[in-house]
Amino acid sequence: MNEWDYSIFWKEALKHIRDEISEIDNAMWFNNIKYAGSGENKIILSVPSTFYKEQVVQKFNSLIYNKLSELTGSKIDVEFIVTSVKNKSSESRQPENDTLPEKKTGSRFAVKARVNKNNTNLRGDYVFDNFVIGDNNSFAANACIAISKNPGKSYNPCLIYGGVGLGKTHLIQSIGNYISSNNTDTKVMYVTAEQFTNEFIKHVGDNQAYKFKNKYRKVDVLLIDDIHFLEKKKSTQEELFHTFNALYDYDKQMVFTSDRPVSEIKDLTDRLRSRFERGLNVDLQPPSYETRFAILKQKVEAMNIHLADEIIDLICQNITTNVRDLEAALTKLIAYAELLNKKITIEIAKEQLKDVFINPKQGNITIDHIQRVVADFYNLSHNDLRGKKRTKAIAFPRQIAMYITREITEYSTTEVGIEFGGRDHTTVMHACQRIDSKLKSDPNLEPIIQRLIRMSKDNKITS
Ligand code: ADP
Ligand code: MG
Repeated sequence: MNEWDYSIFWKEALKHIRDEISEIDNAMWFNNIKYAGSGENKIILSVPSTFYKEQVVQKFNSLIYNKLSELTGSKIDVEFIVTSVKNKSSESRQPENDTLPEKKTGSRFAVKARVNKNNTNLRGDYVFDNFVIGDNNSFAANACIAISKNPGKSYNPCLIYGGVGLGKTHLIQSIGNYISSNNTDTKVMYVTAEQFTNEFIKHVGDNQAYKFKNKYRKVDVLLIDDIHFLEKKKSTQEELFHTFNALYDYDKQMVFTSDRPVSEIKDLTDRLRSRFERGLNVDLQPPSYETRFAILKQKVEAMNIHLADEIIDLICQNITTNVRDLEAALTKLIAYAELLNKKITIEIAKEQLKDVFINPKQGNITIDHIQRVVADFYNLSHNDLRGKKRTKAIAFPRQIAMYITREITEYSTTEVGIEFGGRDHTTVMHACQRIDSKLKSDPNLEPIIQRLIRMSKDNKITS
């Protein structure tokens, strides 16, 4: 033990501070500050990220300093260190062994599925502190952090685009969580474009469009997720255009996400397109190996689970598509281990994840691409599959294309239906069931579908 030991004073100071600050500040900041060691007239506290450190220093440095000085009767310097995998390379300094931060306790999966108490549309775990910054997302993440600190001032509007599972929803909700926790008077609204559309249609149907307009024009921060969903929805686009103008004129912050650049969203009115393109457009790329590793490591730590680096490496080497796929592999392994109460070894991991590795859900394959592959194979035009015609020669390939889309992408049946001639999601479900049962009765179909899947994943069309 070191000659200087302020751990007891820290415990006492923390008790006092907790009584003085709000519940939100407690939950958001002080639950994650840990005692990490002491030096001559100095206490070292650890926090989980650089972003955290900046915030804590700015908001609470003097409170902590005063409290400690009061309790110890001398002036105590407070030093923050970052102890997280996120900042492994630069900022972090591991504390001495005997002063390691307390071990995390709590139940597994505790980080999952919390909601933000102030805004129940937001998930409490979609916060910047749980977001690992890597080369693929640093520009977008930093823009989002800047927006959160100064809503409406810098980068308005902001559009984040990128393939499925790359963190769009996590980032846009982090903005919402940050702003609503730090500025309780600021009215933050987060919706998906689908919710926005449905709500609009419902209000118009009930002859209450004015209620809808009022609701959205009164917000301070408007966050709309997945605006590619607005493709072809002319009247909702029109409404969003007016909402946009109303908010923009008053410097209200708007952030949107999309699975593709605005220029590639079809049937978007020019004037709405130009609004989206007006501010900052940032993209998210698939994560590099290092970032994938850092992300998995963080998830494992957050769940308080021990998983050998060798196994994390195995997953990261084999799953390169997106973070959602990485998480799915991890969840599968953990579920298996928990069910059988077994320690996860590399052999178990290889065996359990065999299928996932061979046939991962490919995040960034577009429906458009699958349609082209299938149309090409059956000598049809791309538009045939997207159109309304129901002749047998077209209907069957269309069902195959829907089935493949559901097999290898994350699109919902509603999204798939829209891309196939604006069909209802039940039609897509029916198509998938039909192909499923045909696969059982017709042995010739399986190799065809496998080939089409391979071609769709290959990202090229062979004739
Ligand atoms: P998208 O909206 O782009 O499809 P999500 O935001 O839903 O993707 O991300 C999918 C999952 O991956 C979520 O559970 C999210 O928390 C996680 N995730 C994505 N990027 C990161 C990251 N950089 N760090 C930590 N978790 C991430
Ligand atoms: Mg999303």
